[in-house]
Amino acid sequence: MTSRLNLVILGIQGAGKGTQCKRLSATYGIPHVSTGDILRAAIKDQTPLGLEVEGILAEGGLVNDELVNRLVDERFTQPDAAKGALLDGFPRTIGQAEALDEILGDDGIKLCINLDAPIELVTERLSRRRVCQECGHIYKDSDQSAISGECENCGGPVIQRSDDTADSIRQRLSLYERDTAPLLHYYEERGLLVTLNADQSVDEVTAEIEKVLAERGLA
Ligand code: AMP
Repeated sequence: MTSRLNLVILGIQGAGKGTQCKRLSATYGIPHVSTGDILRAAIKDQTPLGLEVEGILAEGGLVNDELVNRLVDERFTQPDAAKGALLDGFPRTIGQAEALDEILGDDGIKLCINLDAPIELVTERLSRRRVCQECGHIYKDSDQSAISGECENCGGPVIQRSDDTADSIRQRLSLYERDTAPLLHYYEERGLLVTLNADQSVDEVTAEIEKVLAERGLA
């Protein structure tokens, strides 16, 4: 079996994980797998899963491990993930990281890229973030598509996420510290962690990620 490019993109909310994953997905031909996007799509379609998790997302809480592990397991059975995937927002706990190792088996995670950004920067970014409900494109509140409410990519509605409010942002950032920061240690112990400064332009961060992947012979 050829080696799969399975990458975990870690970082506090607002560090730019989604933006970078969209770019890297296009460059390397592997899907961007965001558990947040999967859950939001289920809420939008009001599926049984969506109804179950709607309140949790609105409050900025975490969905239970078993449920998200199952979603990711199913996602990896889809043909487009045969060459690997960019994982964004998963794993978020040590339990999820262990489940992911089991899901992927021998051809597991090749690298964990941690996008490091100061709290003040991400708080500002999150409160100004707007997203297209159709294609997931991310805008700033000052972008034309955010002002007009119409995505320049696909024409879909551009909205503010219901969990990008001050209370929810505070709650999510504190959960990150508690549950997700230990993941840095998990991947560091395995020699898989690379930390990059996310307080740079989008292009600069992309260039750094591509350089690291090339240096390690991964892409
Ligand atoms: P995100 O788009 O990654 O910021 O995720 C939005 C929300 O979805 C989070 O605040 C959680 O409520 C939920 N969520 C996404 N991924 C996970 C995960 N791996 N584990 C638990 N909850 C998650």
